[in-house]
Amino acid sequence: MYADVILPLPFSDLYTYSVPVEMRNKITRGSRVIVPFGNRKYYTAIVYKIKESASNDFKIKEIHSLSDSKPVVNEQQLKLWEWISFYYLSPLGDVYKTALPSSMKSEDLKSKFKPKTETYIRVNPELDPVNITGIIGRAAKQLSLYNQIEIILTYNKIEHISKKEVSELEGYSVSVLNGLVKKDILQTFEVETGRLNTAIKPTRKPHPLNEFQQKAFNEIINCFKSRHTCLLHGVTSSGKTEIYIHLIEEALSTGKQTLYLVPEIALTTQLTQRLQTVFGNKIGIYHSKINDNERAEIWNKMLSKEPYEIILGVRSSIFLPYQNLGLVIIDEEHEMSYKQQEPSPRYHARDTAIMLAHFYDAKTILGSATPSLESYFNTRNGKYGIVTLLERYGNILMPEIQIENTFELRKRRKMKSLLTPLLIEQMKLILENGEQVILFRNRRGYASLVECEHCAWTPKCKRCDVTLTYHKKRNRLNCHYCNASYTMPAVCPSCNSENLKTLGQGTEQLEEEVERLFPEYIVGRMDLDTTRGKDAYEKIIDDFQSKRIHILIGTQMLSKGLDFENVGIVGIISSDSLLNYPDFRSHERGFQLMMQAAGRAGRKNRQGKVIIQSADPDQPVYGYILNYDYDGFFNSQMAERKMFNYPPFSRLISIVLKHKTEQKVEDGSEYLAALLHQSFGDKVKGPSKPIVSFIQRYHLREILLKLDYSFSIKKTREIIRSAETIFHTKEDFKYVMIHFDVDKV
Ligand code: ADP
Ligand code: ZN
Ligand code: ZN
Repeated sequence: MYADVILPLPFSDLYTYSVPVEMRNKITRGSRVIVPFGNRKYYTAIVYKIKESASNDFKIKEIHSLSDSKPVVNEQQLKLWEWISFYYLSPLGDVYKTALPSSMKSEDLKSKFKPKTETYIRVNPELDPVNITGIIGRAAKQLSLYNQIEIILTYNKIEHISKKEVSELEGYSVSVLNGLVKKDILQTFEVETGRLNTAIKPTRKPHPLNEFQQKAFNEIINCFKSRHTCLLHGVTSSGKTEIYIHLIEEALSTGKQTLYLVPEIALTTQLTQRLQTVFGNKIGIYHSKINDNERAEIWNKMLSKEPYEIILGVRSSIFLPYQNLGLVIIDEEHEMSYKQQEPSPRYHARDTAIMLAHFYDAKTILGSATPSLESYFNTRNGKYGIVTLLERYGNILMPEIQIENTFELRKRRKMKSLLTPLLIEQMKLILENGEQVILFRNRRGYASLVECEHCAWTPKCKRCDVTLTYHKKRNRLNCHYCNASYTMPAVCPSCNSENLKTLGQGTEQLEEEVERLFPEYIVGRMDLDTTRGKDAYEKIIDDFQSKRIHILIGTQMLSKGLDFENVGIVGIISSDSLLNYPDFRSHERGFQLMMQAAGRAGRKNRQGKVIIQSADPDQPVYGYILNYDYDGFFNSQMAERKMFNYPPFSRLISIVLKHKTEQKVEDGSEYLAALLHQSFGDKVKGPSKPIVSFIQRYHLREILLKLDYSFSIKKTREIIRSAETIFHTKEDFKYVMIHFDVDKV
């Protein structure tokens, strides 16, 4: 008997081992096993297939051991892995590496997963209680502690007590307790406690839906009768989350599990509270700030007889072992952060979750106020159903949007700050009224460019071809591509001039400025730099919610789906920078970001206000934003996409080549493009130099494939794989790395 297993290695999809006799009736597809690899190494592998025979042309090794009594990966998961590997051109081993918590696939023989334990204390059951005082003798403190413990145990009819409780008793000290343990009167032992909080109780029923929400809910249920996937296009603060809660209830009532996907950890914070009040401990939270041991515990709980009925999480939660998935909610489905950038597999969690639902025969609801062009297109062509919700909850009007022309204001010397006079004035009024302010700036750090006024020297990363961002509080220059950090020179290293000026203001500078303008108010900042700790998001969101912060400044992580009830005004600083990426999606992204940021204003009590600061307000996208005209925007974008044959009219596959020698990557990319050209013809674009073409000491080149949707994925994959093989057998290009990014965003 043999087993094909998945190893956490990128070379081949499967590796064959023989199954020892004693393992034969225990091992199955999905089992976790430990196998030898190479000379001395052992890996944790997942059994993909059991088979009767294997080709004999090389020496097959034997599986070392079976890790668990039951499989840890189920059938649907393996199907999902296979699909990801197939569609995103990624080795199965990479998918396995991404899917399993690292402690479950530790490479040494002893599992790294350590359950959390608590120390307990009991009285030695072998001892006759009558003799105990004799053994303790004249140690009065020991006698006192022993008596107290004895009373608690007898009184509560329990066998043991936690060390923590003992430590709170009168006269306790470590040495007194140790004395009793040494005399073998007391014994200590460890009990596995688990990290998962299981005591949370629901405190309310779901809110009843209003007329519009109820109508939308009914339409969704109806849509699910004929379709697997439905898009809920509901304006910001229309109560989409409340509708999801009712859909979860519906799934629960039929005994089905729900996966609730969000694009950003910041969102899990608020939603956790909101969902726990209704669903209590039925809900498990899964994201990257949860430590690995806890993730392994969640995984095991999902395999147990009492799995979580609801999982709230970011993209990695699509990999959990669901037993009975009935509903997938993809909140803020338009968010591009659903796409994994690095490492492989570069999967899109929205599209993969739809596949996951398919394997479980579950329903998927996509929700957004600003749907992705892809999803909206899929409702137009009948692939998905659509339900629309145009009213904000509580009859509150959509925020009034105003655009301020900073180019004109600058020309007339009216811009004395990063904020326009109108925004400052409006902020004052709002703050005096006890309401709060959100300012949005899509660039972190203090300044994105440092420049010598004398010789125009600018600091650059030594490992990447990018300028460094200045972080003033830490007085450091950081590379936002590779995270390298450098000291800020006091004088220009090139000409010794002391006049180093900063350009391109980021959130840190905005914070400094706002603190100067509004000294009597508390200013908070939420960006990648302020949210590194485990509970950092929670703290900032909580402080803003409970009004300990009056003005909150942040990057795009602040624009997504957060629900604050008291925000009177939202300011979007330098909105043009959102539109100026040299990328065909930049307008879609900018439109979504601005509409979403605007959506944070005036959610509860009265109509909010939004001020957008733009130096180029004549761009057509602003017209659609001012009028909340999603359809108009959609139609204009689709016309452009069609004209240039961009998604959703074509499938884009980006192929990136990497090498430390520029000439090698240059020649290699020419050669690979020529190989691909033989099969794909003019669908091959490039090779070209990416905008940043040198990252972490590697030179990059990119080849783009722009393929018709009708072209078979299987065929595409075969052609690409064979070109890759030919490429790598060439001695010159053996070590040139190739990355694939299917449906690149
Ligand atoms: P969306 O997800 O569409 O942006 P939310 O679900 O966050 O909107 O709703 C906006 C606000 O209105 C929230 O504070 C929510 O609690 C409240 N809300 C929405 N629907 C209801 C309802 N049916 N009953 C009570 N409050 C509601
Ligand atoms: Zn200089
Ligand atoms: Zn760098």
